[in-house]
Parts: sequence; C-alpha cells; structure tokens
Amino acid sequence: MASEFSIHVAKENLKFSAAHFIAYPGFREPLHGHNYQVGVRVEGRLAGTGYVIDFGLIKKLTKEILDRLDEHTIIPADSDCLKIERSTDGQIRVCYERDVFTFPEADVFLAPIVHSSAEEIARYIWRELHGALAARGALADASALEISVAEAPGQAAIYRREISNP
Ligand code: ZN
Repeated sequence: MASEFSIHVAKENLKFSAAHFIAYPGFREPLHGHNYQVGVRVEGRLAGTGYVIDFGLIKKLTKEILDRLDEHTIIPADSDCLKIERSTDGQIRVCYERDVFTFPEADVFLAPIVHSSAEEIARYIWRELHGALAARGALADASALEISVAEAPGQAAIYRREISNP
C-alpha cells in the first residue's frame, strides 16, 4: 500500500519521567533518570473520513501507556544479567553481581525488555500502542507505525515497523 500521508504527534503531554540504568554482562550504569519525550508517526492512506487515523485516539492511548511508566524506575524483566526477585513484603530486589537495589514494588515498572535503552523502550511502546489500536480496529488505513523516544532534546531512538492489513 502506498503511504502518501502520515500524521505525527509529539505533544508536550507525551512525555514521562523515569529512572533506569543500562546493564549488560560486564557493565552497569549508575541509577539515573530522564525526562523522556515520545513521538508517534502513523503512515497510511486517507480514509473516507479525510483522516489517516484519529489524532485524539493516538494521543489518548499513548498517554495511557506512558502513564504506566511515568515516575517509576524501569527495570528490564528480561535482562540477561540482572536477578530480579519479588519479596513477600512487597519489595523488588534487583541484583547485579554484588550490587543490590531494593525498591517498593509500586515504584517499579517491570518492562518485558532486555535493556532499558531508549531503543527497547520505543519498541515496547510500539507493541503496546499497536495492540491498543488494533483492538479498536483503528489501523485499517495505516501502513506503518513509528515511535520515537528521546532521552534528551534532539537525541531520540526510533522504532518503525510496517503494519500488515490483510
Ligand atoms: Zn539513561
């Protein structure tokens, strides 16, 4: 399908603040935080309504996903070097080699990712948003979806994938 049109949403309210650290075998960043800014682009054809997709729906669903991350510490549940335990007293223990972090469970967002990089966070948001839009049948005229996640102004990771509409 030719994509003559695209819409792009990068509103002031599509942001979240979160703590994280990158860890892979042999390396760990110190715990720190970012004010992340998210952008959404949808490519597609013009529907009979004159839209590719409803801006309002994109903003609402993206905001709902970002609210789950906002003011949390993002821990990559599928990490290949962190040991993550949930204790009976409601604490999450995250171990890297000899280092141990303990967080109240409600302060942690356990994400189904391997590293909490902007790239993997962008892919996570893509999957969540794609699922939410598909469940509402909102992607009929869309041919691709792209998520950008900026950790700082002018420094963004982008995840883009085509959408198959049989
Ligand atoms: Zn960082």
